[in-house]
Amino acid sequence: MFHYIFQNRRGNYAELGIDGVYQLIADLIGAVKEEVAIFENASAAWGTAFKGLTFHDGDEIITCEMEYVTNLIGLADVRKKGVKVIVINNDESGNFPLADLEQAINSKTKLIAVTHIPSSGGGILPIKEIGNIASKHKVLYMVDACQTAGQYPIDVKEIKCDILSATGRKYMRAPRGTGFLFVKKTVQDQLSPVLLDFLAASNVSLDGYTLRQDARRFELYEKSRALTLGLGKAVEYALNIGVDRIWQRVQYLADLTRAELNGIPGVTCHDIGSEKCGIVTFSVAGIDSMLVKNKLVENGINVSFGGSQATPIYMEKHGLKGIVRASLHYYNTESEIATMCDFLKEHPFAS
Ligand SMILES: *Cc1c(COP(=O)(O)O)cnc(C)c1O
Repeated sequence: MFHYIFQNRRGNYAELGIDGVYQLIADLIGAVKEEVAIFENASAAWGTAFKGLTFHDGDEIITCEMEYVTNLIGLADVRKKGVKVIVINNDESGNFPLADLEQAINSKTKLIAVTHIPSSGGGILPIKEIGNIASKHKVLYMVDACQTAGQYPIDVKEIKCDILSATGRKYMRAPRGTGFLFVKKTVQDQLSPVLLDFLAASNVSLDGYTLRQDARRFELYEKSRALTLGLGKAVEYALNIGVDRIWQRVQYLADLTRAELNGIPGVTCHDIGSEKCGIVTFSVAGIDSMLVKNKLVENGINVSFGGSQATPIYMEKHGLKGIVRASLHYYNTESEIATMCDFLKEHPFAS
């Protein structure tokens, strides 16, 4: 077994090796390690779970306006098989309307699939309340937590979700090429594994095989040991700081950024909804957001560009072609926010 010594101030993660990474992820999301599988990215994690579900002609799936592109592709595919996909649009304030969700559920509803923190829009979906509705109606509930992991404290039991996927490369700050999937113990048998290898199945003969009794049946054994340990290290790092503390600081910095941006003539902050996340989205009047992003980056201000492709339903509804994204993390400082805002005040964008 590949072995790695984890250093930490709590002392309980030392010498856990690759197995320890599953435990760390379980600790991060309030699961047990038998409910965790490790993937090379969140798209593979989400897709493996989704493709493992069986849908019939006439079944219905409910999703949200803020859903991520990869997930929408999966949903588009099952529509071809006669599955109806219902999109719950945000209300005028940009909040997810729980009453609309409740109304959309009927005996044909097989799945509720939503993104907790969208990659654009600045908001947060009420996944706990959605989970309460899903469990009341006994509908399978799947959450994309890509922007959540490492930013916002999450507990799969509290939000009552059955399936949850996340990436390593966003707020987790793990190496690229990492992601994970949570599948609740009691739900694992409802999903057919898409691919199986010798670690996922035993007693193999041409007559059949025995399926592994935990979530690792959904992953493949061969993957980068270095990246897996890197993911573990990143999770350990976040746990040692405390995701609660991270979230407090992210909220403070993001609120400050929004307040500053709102005071700059010509700058529009596009964030919607009453609870907001660390991803601040904005644009500058009359100037292409890609140009704004490039100018900021050239000046050492690391923002990114969000095109319409990541959250197409939301972006098209709001007529947004692209926005600048300033993603705040706990290590950012007030003076970095001031630097960005001062730069925007000067509007040095004419090329
Ligand atoms: C980035 C992102 C993904 C995809 O994650 P990968 O690891 O790149 O596959 C999925 N959903 C959301 C909300 C994201 O922001």
